[in-house]
Amino acid sequence: MPQPLKIVHDSEPIVPKKAPVEASTLAHKDLRRGLWWQKIPAYRGIDEATFLDHGWQARSSITRVSKLVETIQELVPAGFVEDLESGMKQAPMSVRVSPYIVGLIDWERPYEDPLRTQFFPLASRLLPDHPKLGLDSLHEQADAPVPGLTHRYPDKALFLPLDTCPVYCRFCTRSYAIGLDTDEVEKVHLRPNEDRWRRAYNYIASRPELEDIVISGGDAYQLRAQHIEEIGEALLAIPNVRRMRFATKGPAVMPMKILTDDAWLDALTRVVDKGRKLHKDVVLHTHFNNPNEITGITEAAMGRLFERGIVVRNQSVLIRGVNDSVETMTLLVKRLGHLNVHAYYVYVHDMVRGVEDLRTSVDTAIHIEKHVRGSTAGFNTPTFVVDAPGGGGKRDAHSYEYYDRDTGVSVYAAPSVKPGELFIYLDPLHQLSTHQQRRWGDAVEQRVMIDDALSKARARAW
Ligand SMILES: *Cc1c(COP(=O)(O)O)cnc(C)c1O
Ligand code: SF4
Repeated sequence: MPQPLKIVHDSEPIVPKKAPVEASTLAHKDLRRGLWWQKIPAYRGIDEATFLDHGWQARSSITRVSKLVETIQELVPAGFVEDLESGMKQAPMSVRVSPYIVGLIDWERPYEDPLRTQFFPLASRLLPDHPKLGLDSLHEQADAPVPGLTHRYPDKALFLPLDTCPVYCRFCTRSYAIGLDTDEVEKVHLRPNEDRWRRAYNYIASRPELEDIVISGGDAYQLRAQHIEEIGEALLAIPNVRRMRFATKGPAVMPMKILTDDAWLDALTRVVDKGRKLHKDVVLHTHFNNPNEITGITEAAMGRLFERGIVVRNQSVLIRGVNDSVETMTLLVKRLGHLNVHAYYVYVHDMVRGVEDLRTSVDTAIHIEKHVRGSTAGFNTPTFVVDAPGGGGKRDAHSYEYYDRDTGVSVYAAPSVKPGELFIYLDPLHQLSTHQQRRWGDAVEQRVMIDDALSKARARAW
């Protein structure tokens, strides 16, 4: 028999061992609520039911400068529109931004706004690419046995069923494929095509070591309900598949779809439930980068997923001016935890073209990680990783074989993925001294810096 709890009434005071918290410590619970989007001139008359309608969000997304100008009208400072027009001409990604995001941007201070920074390129902010940077920097195409299926790691594969997203991010790793062709880049297209999908399933079924399938893209938000279910069922039916993740930026940029697209959510829920019966893990991976992306609408949406037992994990990209401070990253991580979203990874920005202004250094990642770790539960604390250019896969940012903070060259080994090979990541030039920047302008010096780092890494790698 359990003993009833004995309540002791005594007058002994509680001796505090910690100072009372400051209000800022609880800022993660402070979410934007109400009709906040109505401060945007074109959304003044948009009521809550319309704003929460995912169809309205998709139809009203901004893809052209003229539409943005009609939407925000007199809010932006002079010169901004010209800066944006010229930025879009040089960008590797096309523009598509949901009204949800447009409404969250502070248009009176668009140069500093972390959401503007992610989605709208400004010519005045662009920086020349690092001389050693390539387009498919992760070699996803080189590791693809079937178009749109990358098999790099021993037991997992990345399946790209389509190449569109609810928004387009400037920093997209897959700018080689995602979105419309731009003035700068003609893309490899991955259209939704059941024939191509079938070839992917056949390949997966032919490789008994493949247990884990990432369904990305593009973006699972763009898949019709029926396609979510078809893909889910096809993969669950393959005996060797044990785990699947549907990857979508959607919750960060259009959370209302979870609340109002019942057909889509029901299809996902059926796949998750079916997986559970088969003892196979089906989860949602999403991509929040800044705490401002999380509002009362997001809270309701994540609550709905939680009620249905759908596990959500988050992968962020570390982006200059978006989340490259201890304060912002800690707030993001705590806000995600508050919504029962597990912060899984923070990626050091990939070496993609046309977004050098957005990259940070490995040193920045390591510094932020040190401060974030310990601020909340370990399972809500992300691992900071470098996705090694050249196909080495994700490596813990700390785990370099060698790192020269002066030249910005870090070297990683990936013994379980590509044994015997070394992979280099290069910090953006704007983080280096002018002397080192000048060295990167010289082909002979480039070789010297890289060879020096590789030989020092080789001396300790194995
Ligand atoms: C990220 C990634 C995966 C999944 O890796 P995890 O570390 O398990 O999240 C699988 N395949 C490719 C090609 C990837 O880039
Ligand atoms: S949502 Fe993901 S895949 Fe789509 S553009 Fe953004 S980063 Fe790229």
